[in-house]
Amino acid sequence: NDALVISGLTKRYANGFEALKGIDFRVQQGDFFALLGPNGAGKSTTIGIISSLVTKSAGTVTVFGHDLDTDLSQAKQHLGVVPQEFNFNQFEKPIDILVTQAGYYGIPRALARERAEYYLKKLGIWDKRAVQSRLLSGGMKRRLMIARALIHKPKLLILDEPTAGVDIELRRSMWQFLREINANEGVTIILTTHYLEEAEQLCRHIAIIDKGRLVQNTSMKQLLGQL
Ligand code: ADP
Ligand code: ADP
Repeated sequence: NDALVISGLTKRYANGFEALKGIDFRVQQGDFFALLGPNGAGKSTTIGIISSLVTKSAGTVTVFGHDLDTDLSQAKQHLGVVPQEFNFNQFEKPIDILVTQAGYYGIPRALARERAEYYLKKLGIWDKRAVQSRLLSGGMKRRLMIARALIHKPKLLILDEPTAGVDIELRRSMWQFLREINANEGVTIILTTHYLEEAEQLCRHIAIIDKGRLVQNTSMKQLLGQL
């Protein structure tokens, strides 16, 4: 049972640069999966394609059996993405950002408010629910984006460098939150990182990407055994 299947994925940007040179991997349902690689390896490009913000040049992406090319709206129901850049309306309040997002998925307002409250509390930003989100710290904005990605209860959560620029204490509490939703809510998680310790702390499976190619794809246990 696969949460995500990527095959032959290629990306050539408009300037001719080939950021992905044909990558293949699959992520099992329930897994906690790291896509590790140095800056420029192609991690954000991969996530951009999965979240249909970046067009692919070739290959296929399937989310819980739904091909993005033929079945995009079904795939999107199952998918929550936390991009690297803050892309919410900075003049909106966190609570409104979450309720608006829930509306895109047809979630009734009362349920949306209930879920928003749950995730804002879980993530420690409930106190900030009614201030303009531009006034939140970077770490708070990051957590708001995680809450937004979870509001429709996706079965697959993908995070692009979720703890970049976050201090160690907050990083640990974000790690704990992600472990909990993986273990207790059964959410399959994929995160990108350029930081082996993060992958080691969290992930059961690791794929390593470099210059647009997958150079390693193995269980964390096996990788650590080799080092
Ligand atoms: P797509 O092929 O997905 O439509 P584009 O290749 O059109 O994307 O990229 C959009 C613009 O962003 C281009 O003008 C591109 O040069 C620019 N750009 C953004 N990031 C980079 C980067 N890291 N290196 C080079 N150009 C970039
Ligand atoms: P990572 O997330 O692993 O740091 P990216 O996927 O952001 O890597 O980038 C992969 C490569 O593609 C980099 O060399 C980057 O400069 C290049 N790139 C990213 N966006 C564009 C763009 N719009 N146009 C041209 N090149 C790009």
